[in-house]
This record gives sequence, C-alpha cells and structure tokens, in this order.
Amino acid sequence: MSIKTGKIGVTTENIFPIIKKFLYSEHEIFLRELVSNAVDASQKVKALAQSGEFKGELGDLTIQVNLDKEAKTLTISDRGLGMTSEEIDKYINQIAFSSANDFLDKYKDQIENIIGHFGLGFYSSFMVSEKVEIHTKSWQEGAQAIKWSCDGSPEFTIENIEKEQRGTDIVLFFDAESQEFIEDARIEGLLNRYCRFLPIPIGFGQEQEWKEDKMVDTGKNKIINDTNPVWKRKPADLKDKDYQEFYQKLYPGQTDSMFNIHLNVDYPFNLTGILYFPKIKKNFDIQKNKIQLYSNQVFVTDSVEGIVPEYMTLLHGVLDSPDIPLNVSRSYLQGDPNVKKISSHITKKVADKLKDIFKNDREQFEKKWDDLKLFVNYGMLSDDKFNDRLKEVALYKNTEDKFFTFEEYKNIVKENQTDKNNKIVFLYTHNSDEQYSFIQAAKNKGYDVLVLDGQLDPHIIQNLETKDTDIKFARVDSDTIDKLVEKDEVFESKLTSEEEKDLTPVFRSHLKDKDFYIVSFQAMGEEDMPITITQSEFMRRMKDMSEMGGGGMGFYGELPDSYNMVVNSNHPLVGQLNEACVKATNVDLSNVKAELKELGEQKEALETLQKDKKEEEIPQEEKDKMEEITKKTEAVEKQKEGILTDFGKDQKIVSQLIDLALLANGMLKGEPLSKFVKRSVELIEK
Ligand code: ADP
Ligand code: MG
Repeated sequence: MSIKTGKIGVTTENIFPIIKKFLYSEHEIFLRELVSNAVDASQKVKALAQSGEFKGELGDLTIQVNLDKEAKTLTISDRGLGMTSEEIDKYINQIAFSSANDFLDKYKDQIENIIGHFGLGFYSSFMVSEKVEIHTKSWQEGAQAIKWSCDGSPEFTIENIEKEQRGTDIVLFFDAESQEFIEDARIEGLLNRYCRFLPIPIGFGQEQEWKEDKMVDTGKNKIINDTNPVWKRKPADLKDKDYQEFYQKLYPGQTDSMFNIHLNVDYPFNLTGILYFPKIKKNFDIQKNKIQLYSNQVFVTDSVEGIVPEYMTLLHGVLDSPDIPLNVSRSYLQGDPNVKKISSHITKKVADKLKDIFKNDREQFEKKWDDLKLFVNYGMLSDDKFNDRLKEVALYKNTEDKFFTFEEYKNIVKENQTDKNNKIVFLYTHNSDEQYSFIQAAKNKGYDVLVLDGQLDPHIIQNLETKDTDIKFARVDSDTIDKLVEKDEVFESKLTSEEEKDLTPVFRSHLKDKDFYIVSFQAMGEEDMPITITQSEFMRRMKDMSEMGGGGMGFYGELPDSYNMVVNSNHPLVGQLNEACVKATNVDLSNVKAELKELGEQKEALETLQKDKKEEEIPQEEKDKMEEITKKTEAVEKQKEGILTDFGKDQKIVSQLIDLALLANGMLKGEPLSKFVKRSVELIEK
C-alpha cells in the first residue's frame, strides 16, 4: 500500500557504494550522526515554541535510544519537529541536490571528507544497515505521519502511518557485517564517547542498583549525558570545585590540574571550552593528547596531534566550536582554516593566561613553576611567537630556590659575574648535590648559581645564548671558578714553571688511564681546594647532544670522558709536596737536568747554524746530529719522568688529594673509594 515510490537523487547511485565501501574504519559514527540530528530537531522545536510559532505542548524532549536484540534493530526516537512528506523529499531524498556531481569530481581522492559537506550525516546509517526506516510526524497542525523506508538501493518507499507523538523514530536494521552493534555495552560505549555532552537528554537502558548481591534494573530511564557541561556555563557561576569535578569526569583518576582557562569567544569565530594545565613533571609522553574536540557539544576527536601545536597537546580539556567540521579526516582537519584559527587563538589565550597569573599573583606562579616549566619551555623552544610572548615571564630558579625572570637575573649577576671579555656568566648546576663543592666555591666568590636540571634546559641554554650575546652559560663543574668567570686580576704562583713541570708526573703517577686527564697548574687562593677536577663545558655539551641523538655528533660520543685536573699551585700542601720532591730527587735529577741543558744548548747551536738555509742546503752530517740530539733528549726526559714518577708513587698525600677531588665530584666509587677510606684512617693514625 505504498503511496509513493521513487529514486533518491541521481548522485546517490555513486554515493551509496561510497558510503558502504570507503567509510569502513569510521562505521561507528552513524550513531553520533543520528543522535545529533535528533538533538537538532529537538532544539528546533524548542526554538519554535519560544518564538511562539509552535503553540502545542513541548512535552519531555528526551531522546530515546532502544536496541531490540531479537529484531536486530536500533531505534533513535526524538520529540523534535518531525518532517512532512515534502520535507522528507527535500532533506532526505534529494540529498546533495545542488552541485553534488562537481563536488564528487573534485574530492575523488578524499572521499571520506565529502560526507559532512553533503549533509550526508543521515546516510551514514547505511554503513551498518540493510534497511533504514524513518517514522515521522511533523509539529505542524494536522500533519500526517509517514514512514520512509529504504533498503540501501536508491529505491525508497513512503507511506502514511499512524503515529501518535510528534517527532521522528529512525529504525536501523543492522546488516550482516554490523552485528557487533547489537550489544548494549557497545551502544552505550558509543553514546558515551560521542554524545556525552549533548544538550538534550538521551536515554538508553535503565538505571541499575544493587539488590541481593547483583545489579538489577530499577525501571528508571538511564540518561547517559550531561546536558549542561561546565564549559557551556558562565565562568561567573562556577567555582574551582566545579572545574576540578569536570576534570575528574574527563580523566578519572588524574591528579588535579593546576589551573584552567575557560574559553568563551564569539568573535571572529565561535569557541568555547576549558583548557586544563596538568602537573607535568618529567614523564610528559604519558599524558599527551588528551584534548577533546567538539562541534556543538558533539564529540569529534581526541586526537589533536597536528591540529594544535605539539606542545599544546600537553594540555588537557575540551574545545568546542561549530567551526570544527564533523565527519572529516584528520588530514582535512589539520588543513582546515577555521581549525588553524582556533589553534592560534588558543595558543595566544594560553600565553595570556600565564602572563596574567605572573602579573597578578607572582607567588602562585612561582609555586606552580616547577610543574609548568616543561610546558612553557617546550612551547618557547618550538614556537617563536610563544617564545616572544612568554620570555618575560619564564622563570629561572637558583640554588636558594629563588625565582627570577631572565632580565631580573641578568641585572642581579651583571655586576659581579661579568668577566674580562665583558660577558655576563650565568653559572648553573644540573645537580646541586653532586656539584655541591663547586657551588660552594662559586658562592665563596659571591656568585650566584642557577639550577637547570630540566629535560629541556640544555636547549633553553643554547636558545638564550643565541638570542642574547651579552651572556654565556657555564656549568659550575666545567672549570675552576676563577676560569669560569675570568677576571683581570690574577694570583701570583708560588711555584716556578719548572717546579710545576716536575710535579706533573708526580700527580700523573696516581691517575688510572681509564679516563683521560689533562693535568695543569693554576695559581689560586691558599684557601681554595688543592685539586679541582672539571669537565670542559664544550666537550660535555657535545657529548650530551650526541647522546640525545644530535646529528653528526656521533664522533664526540665515541671519545673517552676527558677531565681537567687543576692543581692549585698556591695551596700549602702542594708547596710542601714540592719541597719534599726537590729534596728527594735533587741528587738524581741534577745530573739529568745538566744533561738536558747540555743537549738543549747543542740543539740551539745547530738551529742557529741552519736558520737561513733551505732543507736541501743542510749537510747530511748535521741532519744526523740533530736526530741524535732529539733521540737522546727523549731518552733523558723519560729518565727524568721515571725519577719523578717513582717519587710520586710513594706519596700517599697525592692519592689522597686526588681522591678528595674525585669525591667532591661524586666520581669516587667502588674499590678506589674503599681504598681511600682505608688510607684516610692510616693517615689519621700517624
Ligand atoms: P545535516 O544534519 O548536516 O543537515 P543530515 O544528513 O544529518 O544532514 O540530515 C539531513 C536533514 O534531514 C537534516 O538537515 C534535517 O532537515 C533532516 N533530519 C534528519 N534527521 C532528522 C530528525 N530526527 N528530525 C527531523 N529532521 C531530521
Ligand atoms: Mg546531521
């Protein structure tokens, strides 16, 4: 008794197979489409009632979703504005009546994107159904209820039916491949994902309660959504508690967020939402990608990678804008100009919020800085605009837990820590415990030391050094403090350079060759440490970067660790050692030194002779003589080194001083450490 049959617009001959075939991975969105249509229809009838056009009873607008497992159908019922048969014809039959063919041509390659553009939302139901029925009755007075039915071919039928209530029931008859949807948990899961914050109540199943140790239905309709989510409410009506509760709702079990930004923009585009700043310590990968995108409260995606800047994905929360298109692929979302506008807007908002807190409540800002730092640094390093916005508020902490902005800090250390080349040296430590003695040495000079122990700090340092050439960073253990901040005034050395040269093998005799040491002498204060072990800033940075996989840095990674062992030539213990050395080696060395002197003179004489001659003009005899002198010198030098090494080996004080320096660096471990302890006891007993 069909009253009308017909064909759905020509283009659907192309579209049906497309719907079935290409949207495979996104099948589940059919439910979101049908429920959001029901929401639209309900809101429209509400609007008609408000404007006075609709004069009847609105009634309960709850949208009901029912799964009939026996009939294998899913019904979505609303009490919205319904459709007349003309409207069915216009909105359902003649889908995409305008320029569908052109459009299809243009987007052949990205078929999945076109669905939304056609308003094909309703037709997505054919992805999972062998037959779809629409039972509908318009809000208009005296409207005839009708049933539209279509089995997935372009053929459809329309007939008159009896329907008491205004509104629409969409009935899906699941096809053989879509039986997975005939399960309450599956449908409920989808409703929770896509429809959780829709503005009209959605009922599915019944509330349950515990009765005699099992869950039983209560007979009460279960509403699955929150129709008035926090982000849609006025900030003035909300307390911090509301925001935290909502946060917990979005991310159950997450530690409370630090603060949030309630977005509410209506020009030049419409955007609402809440962004939360989670506490981000070191494990920032785990928490990434938690922002959910909504379009008019309909869930679109929670995979915002590529849609907002990478560092923004560290934030949590919801963004809702009608300008965020539904039904499009991620690559399309990434390229969408509205989405780009939204992205740059929230970046700005986030920066503004941070600046506000800094200005109005610096104390709070400082308290939260440790948890904010990674996010801010990440943003500053990856986005120049963000860097420009935040460089005035980014904080640096010193070893006394005081916070400074870059400019503040620069002004504070300028006077004391400017070196003779006019560079302001920013001293820092990456581990206050391990580098305690170096920090102390710096403090004794009246210098300040920053704590830069974050994952991104090495990059921040490079960044600041390139952007401000007045300053340079130096890690406290990368040289002796006098060399780190080099001033004009220098200490006079109490040792002659010959004495220093003689003492070098004495110190070397106690070094293992596992690591590579360069021994040098430096005139420092008597109260400064006798030996300091440092690692050059340059080498360390290169090695760190090669470890982090910096391109072309592999070479540095292969080098052994090399250290500088700096001996304080003015330290009393070093003076005593020198005296002991002179005394013990004087006799043996005097012959050796006389011999070296003699050889040196012979060499000099020969060199003067050869000074203006070309290579070929020098007689062979002289060349041989020169070679002989060189060889002899080497041999005697070796002899000299042997004498000094022998002396050195017996000097417990040398081992002791070296071990103390290693200890100060946290480099004395295992067997050498226990030897040191034993030796110390022996020395005390003496
Ligand atoms: P869109 O929602 O983007 O307009 P759809 O394909 O989802 O596209 O729906 C097409 C049209 O069909 C809607 O614009 C609406 O006019 C009508 N429609 C769909 N579902 C309903 C419903 N439940 N109640 C009333 N009208 C509906
Ligand atoms: Mg729709």
